[in-house]
Amino acid sequence: MIKFHPSEQHLVLYAAGELSPAMLMMVGTHVDMCPKCQAHVQDIEQHMATKLFGETETASIVHGFDEQAMLQAIFNSQSPAGSAAPAANDSLYLEGQRFALPPTLARNSHRIGEWSRLPGKLWRAPVRVGGEEMLNFIYMGEHASLPEHTHKGNEATLVVNGVFNDEHNEYRDGDFMLLDEHHKHSPATQDHDCLTIAALDGPLHFTTGLSRLLNPFSSLFFK
Ligand SMILES: [Zn+2]
Repeated sequence: MIKFHPSEQHLVLYAAGELSPAMLMMVGTHVDMCPKCQAHVQDIEQHMATKLFGETETASIVHGFDEQAMLQAIFNSQSPAGSAAPAANDSLYLEGQRFALPPTLARNSHRIGEWSRLPGKLWRAPVRVGGEEMLNFIYMGEHASLPEHTHKGNEATLVVNGVFNDEHNEYRDGDFMLLDEHHKHSPATQDHDCLTIAALDGPLHFTTGLSRLLNPFSSLFFK
């Protein structure tokens, strides 16, 4: 059961195709995984179409609306001209495990870069989305932890598979959270691993003890 959803504003901007490429991918993946937000996005689209075209024409327009084609067109506009859309790959392999990718990520699997191992049972792979923001897969093995940090900007995190917790909550498959510079947290895993995807619009800022020494390297999470 998904507990944490994107805001109403995010869903409206998603339906309108007006999110940044990184946030389109994050919110789109959540919507793939969340029947509640799927239904809500449909309502928003219906409402927008009614506003634009009036009642009579709306039914046929909404019926023929291909959201996936629209999103793909937005992502492809970030690619070099003439490059064909590569085949979708719905699996991701890491540390001998297979992770199923929701449709939005599967269609963009060709954007996933090389995995690199970070200290403390953490792995990271960049996702090339274009634009200013950084999008990364972050994989935390069992009993892993990320030092307490704040954000210079916003950090959006979506759990693709697994469980992690911070001081405030436990987050599971499909949970979506948005943290800003006022939030301090230290994500960690217990007996489960966790694959997440995270969008940052500013570097992490580590706040405690020795991990402050990581600050010069916080760009590791930001490229
Ligand atoms: Zn939702």
